[in-house]
Amino acid sequence: MTQTKAYAAQSATTPMAPWTLERRDPKPHDVQIDILYCGVCHSDLHTVRNEWDGTIYPAVPGHEIVGRVTKVGSHVKKFKEGDLAAIGCLVDSCRECDNCKEGLEQYCLNGFVGTYNGQEKDGSGVTYGGYSKQILAHEDFVLTISDKLPLEGVAPLLCAGITTYSPLKHWKIGKGHKVGILGLGGLGHMGVKLAVSFGAEVTMLSHSPSKEADAKRLGAHKFVLTSDKEQAKAVHDYFDFILDTVSAPHDYNNYLHMLKTDGVMTCVGAPPEPSQVAAFNLIFKRRTLAGSLIGGLPETQEMLDYCAEHNIVSDVEVIDIKDINESYERMLKGDVRYRFVIDMATL
Ligand SMILES: [Zn+2]
Ligand SMILES: [Zn+2]
Repeated sequence: MTQTKAYAAQSATTPMAPWTLERRDPKPHDVQIDILYCGVCHSDLHTVRNEWDGTIYPAVPGHEIVGRVTKVGSHVKKFKEGDLAAIGCLVDSCRECDNCKEGLEQYCLNGFVGTYNGQEKDGSGVTYGGYSKQILAHEDFVLTISDKLPLEGVAPLLCAGITTYSPLKHWKIGKGHKVGILGLGGLGHMGVKLAVSFGAEVTMLSHSPSKEADAKRLGAHKFVLTSDKEQAKAVHDYFDFILDTVSAPHDYNNYLHMLKTDGVMTCVGAPPEPSQVAAFNLIFKRRTLAGSLIGGLPETQEMLDYCAEHNIVSDVEVIDIKDINESYERMLKGDVRYRFVIDMATL
């Protein structure tokens, strides 16, 4: 076992604070990484405050991890010491079910192992995430990253990037499509960049007029202030696809009618309470309401390669790890453009 410095929550009501955890020694297929940057995802905050129930304490979150390989097991082929590498939301899955065989490990029928607050398949205990100096995983769950992009901007691609890339690819979004991105936060800003890069006409849907300038700067072609009845009406039956990134409570019906015939709205934000959907909003115009969860390993690698090729990174604010609690408060107020990323040299 190796002792690793980390930041952990000891309970749902205590702030994040320094803690030392133990990592296993590398197994033959393990890749061990010194973490350089780790993105701060809203799921981290939900987990440390036990807002989704089931948090095991101490909890060490973080699943947007980039770093450098320091050690590899004897059977590792993909990596060698000194390589750049990344770990996203998953560190293991059953690898045997139909979904795993298809490279859809995020939908593993036997349950994937999350990078944090997961249970190791070998029974060795809880997984600890990227708010730590070092991490290791089976090489199949470690991703290759390019040295062409700034690493701090790459980190959020591992969750925010793939969460928006996967549904856009699944629904084959591209040239000639009109796409609405609902919500401009960590997910939404990646949704805009990716949908624009795929050649779609992209409209930012937001209830906050202050987001218009930023949406345009990120590449959005249009902006609709959803609280303005006239502007909302102007996009009735308009979109081929809406990516709903909002995790605050909201009424899906207000957006479903913006879809044209056969249009699709995909949810990637998870509001705390169930939402009511009027069946008529789906029946008329044969619309689809769908969902999507992160992405599998092959698609995550494809996304990282695509972003390196097209020069796409997240807009980030780099923070010291000692400022993580304050950053959570700012994240709750939407006061971040658009992702906090921890510089792990500060741990
Ligand atoms: Zn995340
Ligand atoms: Zn599986």
